[in-house]
Amino acid sequence: MENSSNIFNFKVGKQLSDQGGRAGVITTPHGEIQTPAFIPVGTKATVKSVLPESMKDLGSQALLANAYHLYLQPGPEIVDAAGGLGKFMNWPGPTYTDSGGFQVLSLGVGFKKVIAMNDETFRSDEVIADKKERLAHVDNDGVTFKSHIDGSMHRFTPEISMQVQHQLGADIIFAFDECTTLHNTRKYQEKSLERTRLWAERCLVEHDRLTKERSTKPYQALWGVLQGAQYEDLRRKAAKDLGSMEIKGVSFDGFGLGGALDKASLGTIVGWMTQELPENKPRHLLGIGEPDDLFVGVENGADTFDCVAPSRQARTSAVFTNVGRVNLTNAKFNRDFNPIDEECDCYTCKNYTAAYLNHLFRSKEMLASTLATIHNERFIVRLVEKMRTTIISGDFAEYKKDFLGRFYAS
Ligand SMILES: [Zn+2]
Repeated sequence: MENSSNIFNFKVGKQLSDQGGRAGVITTPHGEIQTPAFIPVGTKATVKSVLPESMKDLGSQALLANAYHLYLQPGPEIVDAAGGLGKFMNWPGPTYTDSGGFQVLSLGVGFKKVIAMNDETFRSDEVIADKKERLAHVDNDGVTFKSHIDGSMHRFTPEISMQVQHQLGADIIFAFDECTTLHNTRKYQEKSLERTRLWAERCLVEHDRLTKERSTKPYQALWGVLQGAQYEDLRRKAAKDLGSMEIKGVSFDGFGLGGALDKASLGTIVGWMTQELPENKPRHLLGIGEPDDLFVGVENGADTFDCVAPSRQARTSAVFTNVGRVNLTNAKFNRDFNPIDEECDCYTCKNYTAAYLNHLFRSKEMLASTLATIHNERFIVRLVEKMRTTIISGDFAEYKKDFLGRFYAS
């Protein structure tokens, strides 16, 4: 959907000859995103420890914040009154918010901190936490959950998620979905997928109503979220259902590829979905940011990515280099007066040494997080940028082989 001042569109450019990967350009009311692109995460409307100007300088084209966190604090009405998410956080470029579905369920239902995606041995609909420990309950209408901040009770429905995300005002917003894990039974996955499909319809209706009601605001693009865990038929069904969904002439502007994705079959699962989705709409692979996973996502047709890992790991002194991940507190760095990564063009590597970072981390100085986060975010942003340029130049396969060969050598 577009009008002259509130444009949103996606143009597909060069494609890989043998796979679904493509370069493209997403246009939003706050600027363009050249894809494939990594979108750094500012969960609570800030990339922890880094100024928005620094995020722009390191090549971030957009930022993604989280609807659940901003709903609880400071509240969407405050972000709305501030002029929307970008204005509130002094980020003039494009913004995304995710629907809050994942956080509501993962914080509420009590998934372990990192969902054990590879555990094939345990299957149960009692996802991880016992009933008494659960902070969230899902029904066909929505999810009731307990705030992780103060224990107060809240409810998200597809309509409420749309209202919250319209108030937050990001350029790209996501439909409210039920995120399952690989632990759920097949029967539960089927039931959940149908629930997510019905919620997607309700999201489109409410999104259309809010778009009309708030017609003076910049256009917000709604992307439907595909679930289906590890099942081919369910993933393809989700892609067909949401890819062709149209209510009163309104359809999704793009798609989020979500849910439980086993690392070993990530490419296969992404491929099932992208084969069924309309070519001319962008796709975002939710929560993926490991270098090898990014290559697999890109070559199978995902256009944008987000993940908290680069900044979260940076704060624990784990940084990326061309020859793999290293920990800066390691004693071997205390007299290393070279940059973290000789090949890196980030502000940190241009101005600081590994020895200085080692000192900052060991003495628990706040600047350690700032400098390490700038480096890690630049590393991943540049990695995906390079995937784009090599798709265009025809050198993608060679670049992938060279990068992965060095990064995972040890
Ligand atoms: Zn660097």
